Amino acid sequence: MSGVKTQQKSVLVAGGAGFIGSHLCDLLLAQGFRVTVVDNLITGRKQNLQTALSQGAEFLERDINDPQALQGLEFDQIYNLASPASPVDFSRLPVFIMNTASQGHAHLLELARATKARILFASTSEVYGDPAVHPQREDYFGNVNPIGPRSCYDEAKRYGEALSFSYHRAYGVDIRVARIFNTYGPRMRPDDGRIIPNFFMQALQGQALSVYGNGSQTRSFCYVSDLALGLMKLMQGSITGPVNIGNPRENTVLEIALIVNQLIGNKTPVRHLPLPENDPKQRRPDISRAEESLAWRPSVSLEEGLQQTLAFFRQELASRPEGVITPTLG
Ligand code: NAD
Ligand code: UDP
Repeated sequence: MSGVKTQQKSVLVAGGAGFIGSHLCDLLLAQGFRVTVVDNLITGRKQNLQTALSQGAEFLERDINDPQALQGLEFDQIYNLASPASPVDFSRLPVFIMNTASQGHAHLLELARATKARILFASTSEVYGDPAVHPQREDYFGNVNPIGPRSCYDEAKRYGEALSFSYHRAYGVDIRVARIFNTYGPRMRPDDGRIIPNFFMQALQGQALSVYGNGSQTRSFCYVSDLALGLMKLMQGSITGPVNIGNPRENTVLEIALIVNQLIGNKTPVRHLPLPENDPKQRRPDISRAEESLAWRPSVSLEEGLQQTLAFFRQELASRPEGVITPTLG
């Protein structure tokens, strides 16, 4: 972890005990990096790091918003994935989310500046807000409500991007910015409130699928192994970004309900609930930049990825002594 740099590259993954971060750690370890995780476990779980810890990763339970948290550390590369990411967290933790992409990210940028590390910021498709341009290319500036219920996340990530570019322009910090689109897979928290965990937990427990609004809104879902590879390629490559990392296959929410039912082999009905305020109506990445500059494109089909995810959620249910998991509704 800290100390002298050796030939084996050392990497810090902030937020590495989370869903995407833990898969990224597994990939980096398999590629021969030395991995340290800093995570305060606010939405992550140490059990996500079971494989990584057995492969030699180091875990530091710390909050990146704490100015002392990173003292004395030194790495070649820093991935900043630290941030709650589910819309249900936006009402629960708005100020914490804003502090994490601002103060917390500034602490990591200062570390990168002081130690000449390369730093990648995990931004989001939410910077495009409810997009008027479809599909979304990186040169679209977005359509974000700056005071709406999602703004704590959207604007925090926009600020994190701006802060990254400011450190780059002012101090020459070697930055990378990834705009991550909806991602799913094993290790998502079954009660984290996002569509894939909600629909699977509901379908597995014989409950109606909670479709917000009429279900015609769209998203494009990327399997987590594809996503982790995209992040690593961006870090290793030569462009700062921003780069969209996501899967361009687009589905409506109602189509996702249908696919979940087909995979489980039942016909759980849907029940319509109110559409959350400012819920984007459509979202699909234009990934030409990632294809051209990183030679990256996703390879796991939605059906294949959802099968893997279903197997994980079945295990999660079986491991609860009471055998019940209540989905969180937005
Ligand atoms: P997650 O909640 O599973 O992971 C985030 C991790 O960061 C958690 O382990 C959490 O405990 C940790 N964390 C949060 N704030 C922290 C802080 N101040 N200090 C230390 N640790 C902190 O979420 P995820 O889905 O894995 O998302 C990872 C990153 O990717 C986030 O930055 C998110 O904004 C971004 N992203 C995710 C998606 C998605 O679909 N999953 C889409 C777009 C962007
Ligand atoms: N959604 C839904 N039912 C749920 C959870 C989500 O209909 O139980 C919808 C939500 O309104 C949105 C889409 O699914 O249009 C994706 O929501 P999610 O929270 O997974 O991610 P978002 O893209 O909104 O951040």
